[in-house]
Amino acid sequence: MRILVIEDEETIADVIATKLRAEKYEVDTSFDGEDGLYNALTNIYDLIILDIMLPKMNGLEILKKLKENDINAKVIMLTAKSELEDKLKGFNTGADDYVTKPFHIEELVARVNVQLRSVGNHKDILEYSDLSLNIRTSTLTCTSTNESINIPYREFLLLEYFMHNKEQIVSKEQIYDKVWGIDTDYESNNLEAYLSFLRKKIKIIGSKVSIKAVRNLGYKMEE
Ligand code: CA
Repeated sequence: MRILVIEDEETIADVIATKLRAEKYEVDTSFDGEDGLYNALTNIYDLIILDIMLPKMNGLEILKKLKENDINAKVIMLTAKSELEDKLKGFNTGADDYVTKPFHIEELVARVNVQLRSVGNHKDILEYSDLSLNIRTSTLTCTSTNESINIPYREFLLLEYFMHNKEQIVSKEQIYDKVWGIDTDYESNNLEAYLSFLRKKIKIIGSKVSIKAVRNLGYKMEE
């Protein structure tokens, strides 16, 4: 697992990096906001430790850019005691945790371990053939063309269901139950319309996957 530490106080950054390397993590450091963002946008990190007060660009601006660019690394913010407001902003912008300065290095390492354990347990990407669906961002990517598209909520549920049941026939009833809920009125939900939107998106990004109708039985996702 690879971690980026963005912290302008170099002695603190070094202490963090040394300790995390001793815990067998790969660690890179950035000492200002611009360099930190540049490194983070490579999207090679599982976790970023992000100081708020930084030269050139502050931690909250960086956090915002990360979300805009679909960077899925876990983020632990470092905040001073007086920065309660920043802390709240950080959570609103999508930070996963914060540690208040001054902190014990063991506490920070414990928080890092908690965050990275949850990464390992939770599967964020569903894959089938040349399709890769990011559960967290609802982004569908075709791995052979490298094109991506955002999938709206209902189509996302539909696609997720097909990807869990790839190459199997699923009935309309099963789809309705899964995507719209058990108590839904079948007639009122236009499954065909949602399917056609979804098929169009799969086609736009150049995937070879299709969702075929199987006469009298339902539908099937296949290559
Ligand atoms: Ca600082």
